[in-house]
Amino acid sequence: MQSRSFSTRMLALVFTLLLAQPFALMAQAQGGSAPQLPNPGTTGMNRQQQQQLGLQAMGEVYKQMPVLPDSSPETQYIQRLGKKLMAVIPADRSWPYQFHVIPAADINAFALPGGPIFVNIGTITAAENEAQLAGVMAHETGHVVARHAARNMIAAYGLEAVAALAGGQNPGLLTQLGTSIAANGLMLAHSRQDETEADEYGARYAAAAGYDPRALISFFQILQRQEGHTPKVLAYLSDHPATADRIAHLQQYIVQHHLGGTSLGSGQYQAIKSRAASYRSASAGTGAPPPPPPQP
Ligand SMILES: [Zn+2]
Repeated sequence: MQSRSFSTRMLALVFTLLLAQPFALMAQAQGGSAPQLPNPGTTGMNRQQQQQLGLQAMGEVYKQMPVLPDSSPETQYIQRLGKKLMAVIPADRSWPYQFHVIPAADINAFALPGGPIFVNIGTITAAENEAQLAGVMAHETGHVVARHAARNMIAAYGLEAVAALAGGQNPGLLTQLGTSIAANGLMLAHSRQDETEADEYGARYAAAAGYDPRALISFFQILQRQEGHTPKVLAYLSDHPATADRIAHLQQYIVQHHLGGTSLGSGQYQAIKSRAASYRSASAGTGAPPPPPPQP
């Protein structure tokens, strides 16, 4: 539906190729005890444009999906947990993260470009401890740091269309994105490489915040056990297959890089989990998006 020029599509393709290659090479080059995370690179959109893109998409999420108010105990808890993670993310990887809770029973979490992250109630109730939740949230911050969503959108729709969307000039595509998030629990599917990269960020940031990074693995194992038994995990699993090789990679990464957090989290988690379990799905469009957070 968007008419894009050939040059724009080529530009997006060139960016994608340029960016994908160094990631693969750098991941292979990693080793020893002083790992370097891959350079997050660029997307063809500047930082401000990516943040605008995320805020546009966030407005659409608030329009099309129920979101708990920031004053809810679940959201306050998730935001405190998010702050612990933000505190350990290096300044050069920092984005204006914000964390919100969707009162839906499916296990899901997703990140929008530039920082907004949404966690379903179902993820809070499926986890066994705070460290697992921290692992999932840290994984989502990894998608933001590595600019996966912005890059995937540009690859799918072209730089021109996505830049227009960021500037509020492409309402058709914006609605389409919101519909996709509401229906599928995500904006666009991530590649396996994106997921592996986000897992690595997730383990690293959760460990830096003091959490046992293996909790992300035990959360995947919960998903594995539930797979086939309940549709509640489908949204997350469609984008986050809890495969044996994914778990094996994470185990190896944690050992190889001596990621050493040990905490399973605060006792507060169990109280929030009990409260969250009583939620029933609410209807969309009941809340207004909060004002954007201050620039870091
Ligand atoms: Zn992911």
